[in-house]
Amino acid sequence: MSRAPFELAGVRVAPGSRSQIDVPVARLYTHAPLYIPVEVVHGRQPGPVMLVCGGIHGDEINGVEIVRRLLRSRQIQRLRGTLIGVPIVNVFGFVQHSRYLPDRRDLNRCFPGSEAGSLGGRVAALFRQQIVDHATHIIDLHTGAIHRTNLPQIRAQLTPDGETERMANAFGAPVILNADLREGSLRHYAQTRGTPVLTYEAGEALRFDEWAIAPGVRGVLRVMRRLGMLSGEQRRRSPPAAEVANGSSWARAPIDGILRPRVRLGARVAKGELLGRVADPFGNAEGEVRSIADGIVIGMGRLPLVNEGEALFHIARFDAIEEAESAVETFQSSLEPPPDALY
Ligand SMILES: [Zn+2]
Repeated sequence: MSRAPFELAGVRVAPGSRSQIDVPVARLYTHAPLYIPVEVVHGRQPGPVMLVCGGIHGDEINGVEIVRRLLRSRQIQRLRGTLIGVPIVNVFGFVQHSRYLPDRRDLNRCFPGSEAGSLGGRVAALFRQQIVDHATHIIDLHTGAIHRTNLPQIRAQLTPDGETERMANAFGAPVILNADLREGSLRHYAQTRGTPVLTYEAGEALRFDEWAIAPGVRGVLRVMRRLGMLSGEQRRRSPPAAEVANGSSWARAPIDGILRPRVRLGARVAKGELLGRVADPFGNAEGEVRSIADGIVIGMGRLPLVNEGEALFHIARFDAIEEAESAVETFQSSLEPPPDALY
């Protein structure tokens, strides 16, 4: 007996086929229509319905490239279940190079949204009804904010032996933050609905970071393989080790000025260690940024011009710091040297 077609936004996708669907979301002032671009790959065999989405924050473009490579990957040609790839959710922000919607709302604080609500609430409600509610599993792709970069990391709410934890471990990012849910986020909405959901955070807004994109594509494929969605070639190798952080905090600028960082992303640092110096342009007044904990630098500012109190280095704490350090080293040594920088 053949499998039923998959229906999304009024389009029926037959088993063993794929379809690109433009989901109408709104109009520009000019009345030109705006769509959320979606590709559905509907396998012949039944299985999970995996939503992989990028660009909920419109300036976070690493996820757009992750979805593109995923959809062009040969491995999904014989898929069990269904893949819904959404490269850009916040199309308004994307065309403006902006994290936000035109009403300055953060779409990732607008879920579940409402058809009669603000612009953000309406876009959230539409995305939820037309797309998210079809999914049995979700991977939401993010980067650091503008001028901030993140070491590849998974954020998820882990419960022992839960499906979310299984996905988080399969992904193979070096660090997992067992992060609290923020009200209004897609992750919060999905989790309260009982849909296992991961957030992948890697790289910087408005940039293509190959060391964030390539592991992102591999991670999504590993999760799909773990869920039984990919058949054919079996990879026996288990995913690289990932360590779960038990908390994190930011080291902040002690004074206004210009930062000279002393540590790199992924570095292991000790409590009290010098992370950088902030000085005025002549170097007369100088302040030190020191680590507030033993841990790993999982995020940092990229713009050296800083104000007092600004968050500069994101330090994750671990029970097993040695293991965390070696997970990061293994991850970093697994990266192929990037080709000539194009960006
Ligand atoms: Zn984001």
